[in-house]
Amino acid sequence: MQLKKGVIAIDGHSSCGKSTVAKDLAKELGYVYIDTGAMYRAVTLFAMQNGFIQDGEILLDELQNKLNDIKITFRYQPEEKLNETFLNGVSVEDEIRGLEVSNNVSTVSTIAFVRHRMVELQQEMGREGGIVMDGRDIGTVVFPDADLKLFMTASPEIRAQRRFDELKAKNPTDNSLSFDSILENVKHRDFVDSTREESPLKMADDAVLLDNSHMNKQEQMDWIMAVLHERNLV
Ligand code: C5P
Repeated sequence: MQLKKGVIAIDGHSSCGKSTVAKDLAKELGYVYIDTGAMYRAVTLFAMQNGFIQDGEILLDELQNKLNDIKITFRYQPEEKLNETFLNGVSVEDEIRGLEVSNNVSTVSTIAFVRHRMVELQQEMGREGGIVMDGRDIGTVVFPDADLKLFMTASPEIRAQRRFDELKAKNPTDNSLSFDSILENVKHRDFVDSTREESPLKMADDAVLLDNSHMNKQEQMDWIMAVLHERNLV
């Protein structure tokens, strides 16, 4: 269906469904999907496991010394249709989605040496093209020449509700989950992501804005496919 194996960059706010759209789009185009948020989450988990995060403070020298010991890989799980994330050979897919990692990941993502290493790995993964990559800085820093740049957003309340429903579906008996704490986390991450010094979250000048507050999955796919057709990318 596609004309050439390009690079599609999807950036935007936390929990606005970037990964769902990116996954569906990759499938439709026969591309590989790369979730860069999972990479920052895996680094955060590594830092937590090694005691490098203490009361929200990160022990920078210790983390930097161990940075090259962090191996992040993905393996596609066809039954669950997900890309499982591995940290040094161990599946961490569930742990990296939990609230503890979510609460620390934006801080870890502000660290320049962490970002440089992740960007390097991401550029290597996308060298051959044929990828849909989602994150915060894909269209601005990782692939500034991407064939299509999408910037996705939705209102914070709608995003928090989606995240709440997702976590609740996974852990129906977990009563510690509260909508308010998730909303707070979503807003906090928006703030940290867009105000950090190192490659802050911002829409690239040549990106297309997709506000999906009131769109379902199919409407979003149709909208994106129309943009791809318009640009002769499919
Ligand atoms: O996409 P996800 O919500 O899983 O990303 C987790 C966090 O990782 C974000 O809140 C952001 O702080 C950070 N991130 C980033 N740059 C990326 C991808 C994610 O800073 N390219």
